[in-house]
Amino acid sequence: MIYIDEKLCKGCDICIFICPANVFESSNKLNERGYTIPIPIREDKCIKCHLCELICPELAIHIVDEDGEG
Ligand code: SF4
Ligand code: SF4
Repeated sequence: MIYIDEKLCKGCDICIFICPANVFESSNKLNERGYTIPIPIREDKCIKCHLCELICPELAIHIVDEDGEG
């Protein structure tokens, strides 16, 4: 599962560009700070490399395995 803490996201889109599986798509959805948040629209393509989680400057992304482990 890909969790994005929408409150933390600053809409930098780094996750969109870094993901090798092209999981994220930019959106028009604004968070409460007025930033556009990415949507993990192709979550089924995720290879759990954790790059997005590591690169997000706001630590807004969490990749969680089905069993609940990070
Ligand atoms: S890298 Fe983090 S802060 Fe930047 S758009 Fe993605 S979730 Fe938001
Ligand atoms: S864990 Fe890797 S493959 Fe999955 S969404 Fe993040 S960058 Fe993309």
